[in-house]
Amino acid sequence: MTKDKERTPVAQNVITMCTKCEMELNHVVVAHDAGGIVERVKCLTCGSEHKYRPDKKRATKKTSKKSVSTQEVDLTKTFEKLAEKFKGKKPLPYSMSGSFKSDDVIEHKTFGMGIVISASYDKMEVVFSGGPRILACNRETTDLT
Ligand SMILES: [Zn+2]
Repeated sequence: MTKDKERTPVAQNVITMCTKCEMELNHVVVAHDAGGIVERVKCLTCGSEHKYRPDKKRATKKTSKKSVSTQEVDLTKTFEKLAEKFKGKKPLPYSMSGSFKSDDVIEHKTFGMGIVISASYDKMEVVFSGGPRILACNRETTDLT
């Protein structure tokens, strides 16, 4: 029943699916509906404003227990294995405008240390201890600093 993310205050950041970038990215909350639930968000990566779409994946675990748990175990193993392999490697600080390649070790502000599994022009797959994620890279960002 914890749906705090959907009640993120206006002007605050929330990580959610961008309909344009088709990735989970940082968004700023633009508007709430009458019930105080996030209704519109603006993507900090592409700048587009769109409807907030609540995460569907964690709604109910109807999928067969077997496949879910097996997958989770494998991912942990993969991360640990990779972390071991790249132990001596200095993590690169992650930023959306950065350029990364496979086998790079990165340090993400939210997710911690991750290992780049594959990288394409503007997206890359990174394995974190919590599982794999798709992150943006090589993006032109409007840097506020
Ligand atoms: Zn976007």
